[in-house]
Amino acid sequence: MTPAEDAQQRKSSTMTELRGVGIGLGVAQGPIARMAEPLAAPKDVKSQLSLDDETARVREAVAAVARELEARGAQAGGAARDVLEAQAMIAEDPTLEAEVDSRLAAGKTGEFAVHDAFASFREQLVALGGYLGERAADLDDVAQRVIARLRGVAAPGIPDPGHPFVLVAKDLAPADTALLDLDKVLALVTTEGGPTSHTAILAREKSIVAVVGAAGAKDLVDGQSVIVDAAAGVVIVDPTDDEKARALTRAASRAAAASAPITDGALADGTKVPLLANLGKPGGAAEAVELGAEGVGLFRTEFLFLSSSSAPTVEEQRAAYTELLSTFPGKKVVVRVLDAGADKPLPFLNDAHEENPALGLRGLRALRASEDILREQLTALAEADAATRKTEAGPADLWVMAPMVSTVEETRYFTALAKDYGLKTTGVMVEVPSSALLADRILQIADFASIGTNDLTQYTLAADRLLGSVASFQDPWHPAVLRLIREVGAAGRTQGKPVGICGEAAADPLLAVVLVGLGATTLSMAPTALADVRASLLTHTLDDARRIAEAALAADDAASAREAAQAASTSSETAPAAS
Ligand code: PEP
Ligand code: MG
Repeated sequence: MTPAEDAQQRKSSTMTELRGVGIGLGVAQGPIARMAEPLAAPKDVKSQLSLDDETARVREAVAAVARELEARGAQAGGAARDVLEAQAMIAEDPTLEAEVDSRLAAGKTGEFAVHDAFASFREQLVALGGYLGERAADLDDVAQRVIARLRGVAAPGIPDPGHPFVLVAKDLAPADTALLDLDKVLALVTTEGGPTSHTAILAREKSIVAVVGAAGAKDLVDGQSVIVDAAAGVVIVDPTDDEKARALTRAASRAAAASAPITDGALADGTKVPLLANLGKPGGAAEAVELGAEGVGLFRTEFLFLSSSSAPTVEEQRAAYTELLSTFPGKKVVVRVLDAGADKPLPFLNDAHEENPALGLRGLRALRASEDILREQLTALAEADAATRKTEAGPADLWVMAPMVSTVEETRYFTALAKDYGLKTTGVMVEVPSSALLADRILQIADFASIGTNDLTQYTLAADRLLGSVASFQDPWHPAVLRLIREVGAAGRTQGKPVGICGEAAADPLLAVVLVGLGATTLSMAPTALADVRASLLTHTLDDARRIAEAALAADDAASAREAAQAASTSSETAPAAS
């Protein structure tokens, strides 16, 4: 059963559905385990218990936490066992115990005594620095566990219910995600966070089924059964056996898509739609090739330099670009010049404070203000191209484009400058509505356009793509966004110029079909999304794609566009040809 059919069936059912933003296309089911919130610091109030009773409570809590940490370590084995055993030893450290006891003797509560003693020990460790300093975070973790035990509440952090589970959290911090055991976490559901939150990025990278920003999930309780349907962006609470069986069937057909033979991207009628990879470092290229990327549709060069305080040298850039180009001999590689600003500030390009950085000196605007940096980057790209021409495998087909282009004049400026450096194929990203509306003029000048749907959606709906509170606006299915994409597609057809899509929208298998119907000639995405998109394209002809796109364009909002496309797609789906 396809996601579209599944959604149709669900419409007639009465079970509870929580809405959020789905990441990818996966579906998973299981019991939930909540990530407990960090504990509020205990108040410095006088204990109502006798010293003996308060001391006994603390001893019991410390011992229980130590035994639990040891048991978890024994279960985890390997390096995790060493870490957890060390934490158990911290819990029962005699120096710490003496510190706690002195506070209990002064009439403090067990919670406050533990909090205060561990905090002062923490400060001593931090002052020592080095390895011991790094153990300060372990101390915090142990203190939180003991205090949670004293309060009779769940310990904060990633839960460990002892079986696979669907993790429900407010949002995940990078430190939490580092600890995720992907064998145990069946899916992620967050109550906050949008499609570009840390959780969403992790889920996409690791192919974890996820729905983010599902505010209703705050009422779910541990052990409750859910289906997490990322394709539909819903969490189904207490599903029936029938719904569980349908979810299983879908999970199985996704697994089949993942193991289907890797073919070049094409529609059911053979229309070619090259499937390309979005990359941020040359090291990701090999995996992209393995997953069937036919080239690179977006190489985000700014990712190479996010932690640099000074501009990269021509030499270091040339080395990185040469490494990238040599992985794709004979294939198209679209490199974007530095897109600095807003969500990706580079200290050497964005030094001034701006109230609204997304509307400020970012992308090509920032490069133009520091033209020497742009010129050096174009030099490095031209040199890398020349270097790979001398190799046995031969060069890649290098295309270069500028981000955040908002005028025809900027298009003329960038393409002429890049050509001066000998770069043959030069184009622009369409991420600002003004560029989409003027695509016919822009494509008279540029060799190609690549639509960045993440920013195009942000600027069309006037909703900060990083802000959880407006995440529901950040939906590329919105018909206003689709109409702008149609403009660019039509301009590409008239001018005979390629129009690629390189925003997250291309990774949504049904939206990918719509984008092709609107005139996109290539689709570029995170490599993990290639299999789903490849399978989806193969079930529709170009006529189908155009009809499905028309259905989506005629809708009033993103949700109805998605539904209309699902309905139109269900009625036209072609069984993929047997191979
Ligand atoms: C986009 O805006 O869609 C895009 C591809 O660029 P980035 O996500 O890097 O801003
Ligand atoms: Mg962008």
